[in-house]
Amino acid sequence: MNITLQTPIDYLKGVGPNRADLLRKELDIHTYQDLINLFPNRYIDRTHYYKINQLQRNTSEVQIVGEIINLKEVAQKRGKRLVAEFRDDTGTMQLVWFRGQKWIKEQLRKNKPYVIFGKTNWFNGKFNMPHPELELLDDHKKNLRSSMQAVYPSTEQLSNKGITNKVICKIMQQLFLDTKGRFAETLSKNILQKHQLLSKSDALFNIHFPKTQELLGRAQFRLKFEELFYIQLQLVLKNMIHKSKIRGFNFEKVGDYLNTFYKHHLPFELTNAQKRVLREIRADLGSNAQMNRLLQGDVGSGKTIVAFMSTLMALDNDFQACLMAPTEILAIQHFNGLTEYCKTLNIELEILTGSTKTSKRRELHKRLENGEIQILIGTHALLEDKVKFKNLGLAIIDEQHRFGVKQRSKLWHKNELPPNVLVMTATPIPRTLAMSVYGNLDLSIIDELPAGRKPIKTVHRYDNNRLKVFRFMKDEIAKGRQIYVVYPLIQESETMDYKDLMDGYESISREFPTPNYQISIVHGKMKPADKDYEMQRFFDHKTNIMVATTVIEVGVNVPNASVMIIESAERFGLSQLHQLRGRVGRGAEQSYCILMTSHKLSNDSKTRLETMVRSSDGFEIAEVDLKLRGPGDIMGTQQSGVLNLRIADIIKDRDILEQARHDAKSILKLDPSLSLSEHKAILNTYREMNKYRNIWNYIS
Ligand code: ADP
Ligand code: MG
Repeated sequence: MNITLQTPIDYLKGVGPNRADLLRKELDIHTYQDLINLFPNRYIDRTHYYKINQLQRNTSEVQIVGEIINLKEVAQKRGKRLVAEFRDDTGTMQLVWFRGQKWIKEQLRKNKPYVIFGKTNWFNGKFNMPHPELELLDDHKKNLRSSMQAVYPSTEQLSNKGITNKVICKIMQQLFLDTKGRFAETLSKNILQKHQLLSKSDALFNIHFPKTQELLGRAQFRLKFEELFYIQLQLVLKNMIHKSKIRGFNFEKVGDYLNTFYKHHLPFELTNAQKRVLREIRADLGSNAQMNRLLQGDVGSGKTIVAFMSTLMALDNDFQACLMAPTEILAIQHFNGLTEYCKTLNIELEILTGSTKTSKRRELHKRLENGEIQILIGTHALLEDKVKFKNLGLAIIDEQHRFGVKQRSKLWHKNELPPNVLVMTATPIPRTLAMSVYGNLDLSIIDELPAGRKPIKTVHRYDNNRLKVFRFMKDEIAKGRQIYVVYPLIQESETMDYKDLMDGYESISREFPTPNYQISIVHGKMKPADKDYEMQRFFDHKTNIMVATTVIEVGVNVPNASVMIIESAERFGLSQLHQLRGRVGRGAEQSYCILMTSHKLSNDSKTRLETMVRSSDGFEIAEVDLKLRGPGDIMGTQQSGVLNLRIADIIKDRDILEQARHDAKSILKLDPSLSLSEHKAILNTYREMNKYRNIWNYIS
């Protein structure tokens, strides 16, 4: 039979139908190719042989030469265990089996030299080794053996059914024999040369049977590069196809709205970063392709004005625009903020949220369909099918990480042609992660805060310092400042949190009595209208203190508020803390963030608090967050699939990722259809991958 990499695993000598079934079920290995791509988790040094009297209680895996001198069954609570006395010239130890005893009993030979390998335990004054790997010394000598032996991923089922690591190594060896270890090259000569990569065949051989540490390192580099390269190739290609196939609305004109606003009504000088990002957006909108852009910018970096000026580009070309926010509070705030600008420019602006009354809603629907409303701001309510635009040219999504992919794509279908899309986020994800997860979006970054911002002073205080904190609050209020006090609200313990919030509110009310002080409270259990009312009072400076849950986390903008007190700060995640802190520091005054915690802190909590005190850079904080929580958690389950890489690690291998992305881009730029002969290997591999196993169908 003609062996190819797609040959079912059953055909491999030593596999057979039962083992093949297990491999399929347990490790998803169906073909030769799948088996080769089962990369080891780690390697162990098998050049060293221990003597029994050298064993230490903390040595992990050891290899010993000796003989079995005795074999007995010992009854235990349930069933029995099989115990062998094992001896070398320095002492004795025990080998123990709790399962598979019949097979062992039949196979084992007494008084013959064996090499045993495994982890040792210290039990009853003696070392023992449960379920050792065993090999007759004669066989051991004959076997092809590299100094570093691969340890493969396994499952309980596999080891129960006798498919040990040794068996996997054996069939891997068989595979290399069957294929003569020759595998088609998957990268171009250029790339191989440029990065001094091992050939595919050498890399595969050395990942499974490393000859030296150095070769292992090079094998790993090569395979990581390849994995990341093909993911990036796919993403970049997707983006290109998207641009050539999906015609977008072309906003040719730079018209009166934008010009007038820019010349006469701009409330402040834009930062250079804002200007650059606006140019990037302008270039997208003025091209024929649909815009799909992610705008990242730290809290307070001024994304809103960029969003607004982008809508003006749409309006200047007689299109409508919408801005969708994740919470009602935020939508209202955007609405209030933009109302001013729109009045001076004579723009019809409206808001639609879950609590918009039916009669108002009907009117909105009508005015939206006949094109009277030029900008619509709102929440998820915008996504309802009833909401139809006359010609939606630009959709902006604020705090996009709070929306799912599905929700975003719904916006696409509001028109015949999809609108241009700008998604904004203040939860910066590190660039490398952005490139993998959103590699098919274009990325703009506002990496500069407006001038004159004083860095927020952040401190960590324990609960027993509360009186001092109260005093500080009073001083700040006396200076005319306003203060947020935030309590955690976590779904699982909602009632308990709610009680904390109310207790806190009471104690603050006692400490800050009327009529000298006024306090607002906002939490999730309130009716939207009451929330707005309280928010508005705080916004209008009718109250000094806002006691709230995390509902104020995103976007709320009250420049006069200069103190953020976060209660039980140890219970918040890093990005959440950073978001909350971003609510202050928006005016010209010195702002403060006080993180209150109990004395009991986990290591992770300590790291989070220290990071907050040390850094105000959202990107740096995101990196720490990523390290603490892992990428899957940050992106949510929805996108975590992208991080299921076979060998590369999105965080640790970011340098390789950058190189791979760079190469993928330049190759596609030169040769978008991969038709040059030098790219043949790449084209073939790409096709194969798409044919047999779509490793990236998780990318939206
Ligand atoms: P975010 O990026 O967090 O959404 P906002 O758009 O809410 O930030 O802006 C934060 C604050 O900074 C607002 O009060 C806004 O008016 C102000 N702002 C934005 N850009 C500038 C600028 N270039 N100069 C001065 N203030 C600015
Ligand atoms: Mg914002």
